[in-house]
Amino acid sequence: MSTTPPISAVAVVGTGVIGRSWAQVFARAGCATRLYDRDPAQVKKAVAQLAADLKRDVAEGFETPAEAAACVARVSAQSELGEALAGSGYIQESGPEDLPKKRAIFADLDRLADPGAILASSTSAMDMTEIAAGLPGAPRCLVAHPVNPPHLIPVVEVLPGKATDPEVVSRTTAFLRAVGQTPVLMHRYAPGFLLNRMQAALIREAIHLVESGVADVDAVDAVIRDGLGLRWALMGPFGVGNTNADGGVREYFTRYGKAYIELMNDLGPTPAFTPEQIERWGRATDAMTGGVPRDRLRAWRDRLVRQIRRLKQDDPTG
Ligand code: NAD
Repeated sequence: MSTTPPISAVAVVGTGVIGRSWAQVFARAGCATRLYDRDPAQVKKAVAQLAADLKRDVAEGFETPAEAAACVARVSAQSELGEALAGSGYIQESGPEDLPKKRAIFADLDRLADPGAILASSTSAMDMTEIAAGLPGAPRCLVAHPVNPPHLIPVVEVLPGKATDPEVVSRTTAFLRAVGQTPVLMHRYAPGFLLNRMQAALIREAIHLVESGVADVDAVDAVIRDGLGLRWALMGPFGVGNTNADGGVREYFTRYGKAYIELMNDLGPTPAFTPEQIERWGRATDAMTGGVPRDRLRAWRDRLVRQIRRLKQDDPTG
């Protein structure tokens, strides 16, 4: 899945939900991984989570006991930011989603990190041009937005700021690839980046179909789960078009373009998300999942996502 990372030591700054998952990505790939959080209890939690996840991975046959032990040994808890940063070639900031806080953290990172270190933010929505504005080290700052949790879902949206050095972008994408992630490069900022914009478009129509009485929640979910989603684990909208017509994607969009225009013009409006609507969707979702506890659903989802990723190593496009 991953090759020897070109950067051997990394720091994760902020070890909440996302930081603790990033820690697993880097440690599993072979990097010395230093964890720092303003709240030391969060670092402890991250270390405990890694140990618990590795134990489960060994039990499920995804890791050997030796690999798991080596992974734990690569992780260190740091009580001082400067110590976490010293010698780290890549820093993944995963602090609160708040512009003044991100700016303050990046000012500290830029002041304390080694001169050649890359400073990457997990921000879900912000533009690095704003986070790093005025920093001497703005050329080494960029967004590396993961999907939760990055140790299971490989896509990382990479978004340079206006001042980011292109060489930093290429070193970042090479590093992320080497630790087993799939970096996708954005050319400019767009609210929600790529993934959340496409997700929002789909959720809007899913809600419209339910609210306008076309179908129930279960039917809408089944169309994704047992329909589109099966292909979508292998290819995106352009790749699907390419395999859905004998003449490939050009024929597909030529033949179906007019039909898509009519459908697109018929899609639903932005929903209100009222408490009553949300409660109705909640009851329908509870019925659909048959009372299976969420923890069990999550464990099942995570195990199968791992299996799907294994299967996807068989890829004709390389
Ligand atoms: P979280 O609240 O779980 O974790 C944030 C952590 O930052 C906390 O542990 C907090 O103690 C720590 N922190 C606060 N100030 C700090 C400082 N000055 N220095 C170091 N640590 C500090 O939040 P999260 O969900 O892990 O999100 C972290 C970042 O990742 C955000 O920018 C968020 O938008 C992004 N993100 C979140 C998700 C998600 O689904 N949760 C997905 C992708 C990206």
